[in-house]
Amino acid sequence: MERAPKVCILCGAQERELLIEKDSWKIYRCHKCGLGFLDPRPSQEEIEHLYRDEYFSERYDEGLDPNSAEFQKRLRSEKHRVRFIKKVKQDGQVLDIGCGYGYFLAACRNEGFEVSGVDVSGWATQYAIERLGIPVRLGKVGDLTLPSHHFDIITMWHSLEHTPDPHLALQVVKSCLKPDGILAIDVPTYKGTDAQRMWQEWDGWSVPYHFWHFTSRTLVQFLGKYGFTVIKSKDYHSSVIKEKWGRIVILKPFARLIAKMYSGHSIALIARLDEKMKAHRSSETYVR
Ligand SMILES: [Zn+2]
Repeated sequence: MERAPKVCILCGAQERELLIEKDSWKIYRCHKCGLGFLDPRPSQEEIEHLYRDEYFSERYDEGLDPNSAEFQKRLRSEKHRVRFIKKVKQDGQVLDIGCGYGYFLAACRNEGFEVSGVDVSGWATQYAIERLGIPVRLGKVGDLTLPSHHFDIITMWHSLEHTPDPHLALQVVKSCLKPDGILAIDVPTYKGTDAQRMWQEWDGWSVPYHFWHFTSRTLVQFLGKYGFTVIKSKDYHSSVIKEKWGRIVILKPFARLIAKMYSGHSIALIARLDEKMKAHRSSETYVR
């Protein structure tokens, strides 16, 4: 076990308040900016144990047969993400950080993108390489040598909240992205309707896997430290609301529409480097 940084990694404030206690883990919130964080949290060695092979097979699946109908269905479930990035970029090199089995990358490849990934799981990496033929680097982003200013699109789907050092992750993203590249990212948000209504039972706390708990505001601020400007955002519909209205037969067909009026489990953003930062790429400042 290790302690989280003493000062807020986003704003530098020291004052904190308890946000929630769950399964004997404590999540605090920075009093000043609202960034949530797990403290204490698993150490480096414990992290390696946490993401052992069973992490994926127990939570998701064991790597679907690429010839199965289930695989096609799984790929369709990634389409909303592909559509989201296509609103800004229609082709190019995609790097998915925390790609898992690579289903999202397979969906991107079907749409004509060139794809590669990074993941900490040997099990998932092997599946992506051998079964899907997708080049995936095994390891943490900070430890890998990735090509500079090479990618048109970098994606982090539910990945930033897992990383012990989001600053390092963003530094790597910035150094790997082409000057006109985009970063697409989503994270669970405890400010969303699902979290607010379910609170203690909300699955987005995901202790002890989620080290950080962002809100729209803190995520935008965090990206801003690296010169990223948000150009698109999307709220997922609220599954709590959808389920609630879906139980009423007459309203069932409208449940999804109603649920869209509420903020959901996560927030998704697309950001790109602003012109000023592109011109001064070396002047990176951030608070540790
Ligand atoms: Zn703060």
